[in-house]
Amino acid sequence: MAPDTILARPNAALDAALAEARDAYTAARPRSAAAHQRACAVLPGGNTRSVLYYSPFPTTMARGEGCMLEDIDGHRYVDLCGEYTAGLFGHSEPRILAALQAALARGLNLAAVGENEARLAEILCSRFPSLDMVRFTNSGTEANLLAVGLARTHTGRPAIMAMHGGYHGGLMTFAGGGTPTNVPFPVTLAPYNDIVATLGLIKAHAADLAAIIVEPMIGNGGCMPANPAFLRMLRDETSRRGILLIFDEVMTSRHGSGGLQARLGITPDLTTLGKYIGGGMSFGAFGGRREVMARLDATKPGALSHSGTFNNNVLSMAAGCVAMGDIFTAEVAEAHVTRGEALRGRLDAVCQRAGGVMRFTGFGSMMQPHFRDGPIDRPYQLTPREDALRELLFLDLLAGGVYAARRGLVALSLAVGAAEMDQYVDAIEEFCASRGSLLRET
Ligand code: PMP
Repeated sequence: MAPDTILARPNAALDAALAEARDAYTAARPRSAAAHQRACAVLPGGNTRSVLYYSPFPTTMARGEGCMLEDIDGHRYVDLCGEYTAGLFGHSEPRILAALQAALARGLNLAAVGENEARLAEILCSRFPSLDMVRFTNSGTEANLLAVGLARTHTGRPAIMAMHGGYHGGLMTFAGGGTPTNVPFPVTLAPYNDIVATLGLIKAHAADLAAIIVEPMIGNGGCMPANPAFLRMLRDETSRRGILLIFDEVMTSRHGSGGLQARLGITPDLTTLGKYIGGGMSFGAFGGRREVMARLDATKPGALSHSGTFNNNVLSMAAGCVAMGDIFTAEVAEAHVTRGEALRGRLDAVCQRAGGVMRFTGFGSMMQPHFRDGPIDRPYQLTPREDALRELLFLDLLAGGVYAARRGLVALSLAVGAAEMDQYVDAIEEFCASRGSLLRET
């Protein structure tokens, strides 16, 4: 079944199965339904983070412990969403809790430099090959905006190149060509993993390009790793043309001791980080070559300003030092990649046995199911049928006590153990079996 032969509309049997699953979902969650109703009066769509909305209404979580979540209707779930990669340490890692409690005891909002920011910067610079120096922000979004702003200043050029379907935060999102609320940098979008077409665009726009920003594995757009040759081409061409190469490793920095850049041996000029690095606290960072970062050096005249009340907030800094220094060491990071690869291998085998009705892409501890054949190496527009199948999988997983992202993303935390991975493999096997006829219909 090639993607273009998939019917544009979900068929009647799929519609009926979805309606039944939604009814069961709704009946089991009266409290979440009421919470959503109430929230809708004061929060557009009842939430303050669009990815958390799904129909008929989202489940409201009450608490988490280890790799388990509990909702306000009393259901318990294995958490495989892993806070979209920010929840790498689970919900109650004792060393992180201890670091936070110690930081709280020392006092909040000191309006001054502390010792932990330099400590955390040392850890990150020693781990990620491109980082000579780093600055902290409150989010990955901010980190990317600052990296691009820095590149524009450094090169004196206005424009950037990003990838179709790439995601660099709420203000630089390029699914479907971008959104009206994006920051108005001039952007050229290139097709991910298409060396010839992207090279052509680089040649055409080189004189205006300050930076090319790219995820070494597309994350939000569907967990599709970059072809190393594609990234090498970007590295060669940007070096040759005085364009800065920015790796957005907000999600992928977890893939080994020094992120995908270390793994692939490709060093960008600037790197952005975020998610789990603050131990679950709000976090972002951008860093890279000394001469570029030196533009922010406040000890020099004419330095660029980079402000932010919470850039060095004591909770993120304290948790980050423990998270990256003591818990997610280089060895643990490598082992986590291996665990994830093994899980994806098992999922692939289950899907193969079921006749190839679905497949998983990804790398290491991040993976994403797809309901199409053919190469999946770049973001694509979901058909209504694919979206319906994603929803059905999501609802079936929830009914079986597994919480993955609505779009299917799994981001394993360190707290997820062998039993929980078995549970997920079994759930996928069961989905392929019980929904087999729907999955095979075209
Ligand atoms: N870049 C990538 C690749 C991301 O996945 C995300 C978050 N999903 C961001 C940037 C933005 O990070 P934040 O949500 O912390 O602003």
